[in-house]
Amino acid sequence: MLNITEEKTISTDICIIGAGPVGLFAVFEAGLLKMRCHLVDALPQIGGQLSEIYPKKPIYDIPGYPEVLAQDLVNNLEQQIAPFHPSFTLGERVEELERLEDDSFRLQTNEGTEIYCKVVVIAGGLGCFEPRKPAIENLETYEGKGIHYIVKNPERYRGKKLVLAGGGDSALDWTLYLAELAEELTLVHRGSTFRGAPDSAAKVMALADQNKINLRLNANVTSIIGNGHLNACILSDNEKNTEVINTDYFIPLFGLSPKLGPIADWNLNLDKNAIAVHTEDYSTNIPGIYAIGDINTYPGKLKLILCGFHEAALMSHSAYRIVSGGKKPSFKYTTVNGVQTF
Ligand SMILES: Cc1cc2nc3c(=O)[nH]c(=O)nc-3n(C[C@H](O)[C@H](O)[C@H](O)COP(=O)(O)OP(=O)(O)OC[C@H]3O[C@@H](n4cnc5c(N)ncnc54)[C@H](O)[C@@H]3O)c2cc1C
Repeated sequence: MLNITEEKTISTDICIIGAGPVGLFAVFEAGLLKMRCHLVDALPQIGGQLSEIYPKKPIYDIPGYPEVLAQDLVNNLEQQIAPFHPSFTLGERVEELERLEDDSFRLQTNEGTEIYCKVVVIAGGLGCFEPRKPAIENLETYEGKGIHYIVKNPERYRGKKLVLAGGGDSALDWTLYLAELAEELTLVHRGSTFRGAPDSAAKVMALADQNKINLRLNANVTSIIGNGHLNACILSDNEKNTEVINTDYFIPLFGLSPKLGPIADWNLNLDKNAIAVHTEDYSTNIPGIYAIGDINTYPGKLKLILCGFHEAALMSHSAYRIVSGGKKPSFKYTTVNGVQTF
């Protein structure tokens, strides 16, 4: 069970930005050296690209696994790091980084959570997944006031009126899930067929046939109305007919595209949207800040999970000197020492 915290002030040895496979494995390597980790991810779940983009695809190049489904690898990593009790802030993006007088760091997320730590490890992959937004006037006015681009806490929608938009897996899966909770749910899709899994599409069509959801195909949400909070979506179909749907929430699910985001403004040496690192320990140009996984670059870099795992090991041994005030880590095989937790 993940320790997902709502706490607004956190103090830890290492703050890991990004809970993709590489950030997760870094918890294990740091844990072997008795360093505590807190992870922050902008997505509402852990697993990075594996859980967000290809959870059901098999991966063939993880050592020791002839074949493993991406989501199963994430689940196994979660189990592997559990003995080290990492804590997580999910659904929040790290925006600010400040170096304090004692050389430690203060990080702050877009929702005001502050993390105090001795070492920062950026495992941000391709960057933050930013939502693709529909072209609707005053959309920004109602962001967070009725418009959500990710479903962070489904319970929030219990007993509410919802309009969802999109035709991919995310729109279909959330329609099936939220139809059970919502007072009324309308799914709007600009096409006549869905791009998502045929099985999910069939289930959505069945819900519409049973009048458990309203389905509007060949239609778009073209404008929104509100008064401080969203009140209604206005739909237009291909024949230019319009319809007003009263709603508490509008959730456009048009996919996410990765952007380096705020990390680009932290004075790190960048090379084509990736962070340049030293290959002996994956440190950046700023002492105390490391970058591992897809987000870093160096001569010969391969954007592979196994390369990120190796980087996590070397980073941890280097970070230990900072966390422990200059001590050298003692290197022991896990087969000799076991996994000693704290
Ligand atoms: C379709 C596909 C198939 C693939 N197949 C393979 C394969 O077979 N074998 C293989 O080795 N690799 C494969 N890859 C590549 C592999 O997925 C990546 O190498 C791996 O995900 C990198 O892990 P990561 O932890 O570095 O980053 P990611 O998995 O990208 O995770 C980074 C996380 O950081 C978060 N983040 C970024 N910035 C911030 C911020 N400012 N605040 C908070 N959170 C932030 C993001 O939300 C994200 O969750 C594949 C990739 C794709 C897309």
